[in-house]
Amino acid sequence: MPIQISRQELADWLNDTLQPERFRDYCPNGLQVQGRDGIRRIVTGVTASQALIEAAVALDADAILAHHGWFWKNEDPCIRGPKHSRLSTLMAREINLFAYHLPLDAHLEWGNNAQLARVMDWVPDVRPDGAPRRCGPDDLVWLGAPARDMTVGTLAADIAHRLGREPLVIGEPGRPVRRLAWCTGAAQGMMDAALAAGADCYVSGEISEPTVHLARETGAAYISAGHHATERYGIRALGAAIEARFGVPCEFVDIDNPV
Ligand SMILES: [Zn+2]
Repeated sequence: MPIQISRQELADWLNDTLQPERFRDYCPNGLQVQGRDGIRRIVTGVTASQALIEAAVALDADAILAHHGWFWKNEDPCIRGPKHSRLSTLMAREINLFAYHLPLDAHLEWGNNAQLARVMDWVPDVRPDGAPRRCGPDDLVWLGAPARDMTVGTLAADIAHRLGREPLVIGEPGRPVRRLAWCTGAAQGMMDAALAAGADCYVSGEISEPTVHLARETGAAYISAGHHATERYGIRALGAAIEARFGVPCEFVDIDNPV
C-alpha cells in the first residue's frame, strides 16, 4: 500500500507551518479547491496553470501545491474560458488544489526569499534575536550580502549562471555591491523600502518603467531576475519538507515562463 495522508492532515500541517492568517494577501491561502480525501502523490509548481494541471493528471497526483493559485482579488469571478477549463479538469479528476502566496514568499526556511538566498549563496543579515533582517510590507524584503565580494556586473552574471536566465540590469556594472536586498516575484514596488534600509543593490523578479528612474536617480542598482526564475525554489523546498515528514512523494514540475 502506498503511503497516504488525508486532505485534512495536509491542510492542517500547511496552515500551521505557513500561518496564512499573518498576511493580508490578494488571494485565499490554503485549500482552494477540494478534491479527494486521500493523498498519495503531490505535484508542486509555481503557477496552477492548465499545463500544471495536465502534468498532475499525467502523474496521477491527488493534489497540486502551487505558489500562484486562483481567485485573485479584483479578478472576474465568473467561471468561463480558461478558468472553466482549469477548474473542470481539476474537479473531474478530484485533484485538490492548495496554494500559498505571500506566506510562501516569507517563510524563513522554505520561503522563496530564503531559498533564493540559498541558491544564490547570499548571506542574510541577522537580527539580535537570530531571525533574518527584513523590511517592507509584511517583512517581505530580505537584506544581506553575497558570500564573496561582487560588483553589480559579476552579481548579474552569477544570477544568469545559477538561475539559468539572463537578468535585466539597471546600474553601473563596475560598482561594488555592499548592501544587497532581494524579494522574489513582482516586488519592484518595494525598492523604496530596500533603499531606506540601506541597500545599494536590489534584486527582484520583475521591473516597471518607474523602477528604471528610481534606480538612476538614487544611484542604486536594480536587477530584474525573472518572476518565475526567482520563485521556483520555495514551493520545491516545501514539497521536499512534506515528503520528508509524511513520506508522500512530491514532484516539482517546472512549466517554463520567460517573465
Ligand atoms: Zn509570484
